[in-house]
Amino acid sequence: MSVLIKNGTVVNADLTEKADVLCIDGKIVQVAPNIEAPAGVRVVDATDKLVVPGGIDPHTHCQLPFMGTVAVDDFNHGTRAAVAGGTTMIIDFAIPSKGDSLMAAYNKWRSWADPKVVCDYSLHMAVTWWDENGSVASEMEELCTKHGVSSFKVFMAYKYVFMINDAQMLEVFHTCKKIGALAQVHAENGDAVYEGQARMLCRGVTGPEGHVMSRPEDVEAEATYRALVLGNRVNTPVHIVHVMSKMACDSVVRARREGWIAFAEAIAAGLGTDGTNCWHCNWRFAAAFVMGPPLRPDPTTKEYLMRHLATGDLQVVGTDNCTFNANQKAMGKDNFTKIPNGVNGLQDRMSIVWEKGVYAGIITPQQFVAVTSTNAAKLFGCYPQKGRVAAGSDADICVWDPNSVRTISAKTHFHAVDFNIFEGMVVHGNAFVTISRGKVVYEDGKLFVENGSGKFVPRDRFGFAFQGIAERDAARDRQEAKVDREPYSGPVFDPSKKE
Ligand SMILES: [Zn+2]
Repeated sequence: MSVLIKNGTVVNADLTEKADVLCIDGKIVQVAPNIEAPAGVRVVDATDKLVVPGGIDPHTHCQLPFMGTVAVDDFNHGTRAAVAGGTTMIIDFAIPSKGDSLMAAYNKWRSWADPKVVCDYSLHMAVTWWDENGSVASEMEELCTKHGVSSFKVFMAYKYVFMINDAQMLEVFHTCKKIGALAQVHAENGDAVYEGQARMLCRGVTGPEGHVMSRPEDVEAEATYRALVLGNRVNTPVHIVHVMSKMACDSVVRARREGWIAFAEAIAAGLGTDGTNCWHCNWRFAAAFVMGPPLRPDPTTKEYLMRHLATGDLQVVGTDNCTFNANQKAMGKDNFTKIPNGVNGLQDRMSIVWEKGVYAGIITPQQFVAVTSTNAAKLFGCYPQKGRVAAGSDADICVWDPNSVRTISAKTHFHAVDFNIFEGMVVHGNAFVTISRGKVVYEDGKLFVENGSGKFVPRDRFGFAFQGIAERDAARDRQEAKVDREPYSGPVFDPSKKE
């Protein structure tokens, strides 16, 4: 099982070179100019194309049971869509209900994914509750040390469902720091969202626009900043998932300018479309764009977020792929709070980033690689196994065609969902060939996949994000020293004595 990619330009996040790439038994074994084709090897011609690390989508929800239904892109449709767009690894979220075992959730998600995935995947774990006797903390430790689940997400929103409070968040952050896991946060002020929803409904705003108006930018920005403050108190790295607004992006920038260990994600939907669609006169169309935090009605948000990927203030692009068909969205036809939250993105993520980033002249091809794979591999502890085209790395590769033009459509996509939020968008730059574990799984519009061929990827703990934490702790210990002074010897008021 060997593949030789000839005549292409290899683009890594830090280096661009003319080179061929030889893959044998699922690994990249050589990257060099003019490699002779060994006998029996399959040759892929990459003339005029870029050879980039297969994409990593660090934020998906395949077949998530959510809001009374289940996301229609399961692990099979989700990963098929992924490889058709050049993505060769997804990191999905196992999400236990309040009070449920994290280990049980992990096993459940593994049993859903393992037989279905057509590319590699990994799992984050959501922490939706906390207990004083330490069972959640010990399950976190077990998952991180024994199963390679080295990232945990908390929700500041979804009151009564997933939301936890600040004190619990601090406990989670402390545990993450101790076990070397990255803390991730869905940042919206859940109480303000809850109140905003009630106000909209009271006003008679029951349509999808109510979803957007009930949780405006400040609600996201406040929670983003609060999460980063708490992360800085604990001195542990915090990753903000799906930054959707200018104000929340500014919260991240502010924290990073203070020198806090803050990372953040944009998603394909936020870079490729906007919340004005939620005001569309067709209910089904408008509802298709409902996700949390909402896509913002300010249409210049897309470019703002892309520019912050260019500066490095945002580091990764995910999708939050969580798709629902028309009849599922219609559960909220009379009440926007009952519209299942979620949009597509898995297949089109890399094309959206290329179109709005490279084609638009905002980021370079190397930055494209950084934000679509390399940075995620580093942040989530699987670099350079993933996220790099180099000898020794997994043979997860995308041959990217910067001259290919495609019109995105639900009629042609590989998702299970009946709608595509990027419908009609013309993208200049698409996956030409996708190689997963050294096998061609997608070529020129066609899939060549086998269900269950992907593997679960255990990830490292105490990774890249933890660099410098020990030194920062030591510096704080020196700063937080007590003052040596003479003890106070004067009179002390005694409240128990009557005057
Ligand atoms: Zn999500």
